[in-house]
Amino acid sequence: MASIRNLNDRMQTYIEEYRRLTARLSETGFIWPGHIQRRYLTCGKPNCVCHTDPEARHGPYAYWTSKKNKKTVSRLLRPEEADLLEEWIKNRRKLEAVVRHMKGLSQKAANVALKLQEQEKPG
Ligand SMILES: [Zn+2]
Repeated sequence: MASIRNLNDRMQTYIEEYRRLTARLSETGFIWPGHIQRRYLTCGKPNCVCHTDPEARHGPYAYWTSKKNKKTVSRLLRPEEADLLEEWIKNRRKLEAVVRHMKGLSQKAANVALKLQEQEKPG
């Protein structure tokens, strides 16, 4: 059985790691849902070379896609909009990774906290 000292040390490590993660949360910039895909497309002109040569297709066009009320929504973005939202989507992914890490750490901390409670019980 792990000693109280040992458990307290582990708890301290988790607390410090958790603080580092919450500090990263506070530095998070704006976030945006969904993802951006860049696509090359054929046009409406019947004689355009894009219909016969895949290399000559037009684009890339940036499309943003997300789920809204369980429905997939998609929208063509202007280039400057795509650059901005790509950054914000990157921020969201980092944030989600930090939150996943926090959840995992909380799980470990709960195990240790419960063991400590058990050992500190009188008798
Ligand atoms: Zn074309």
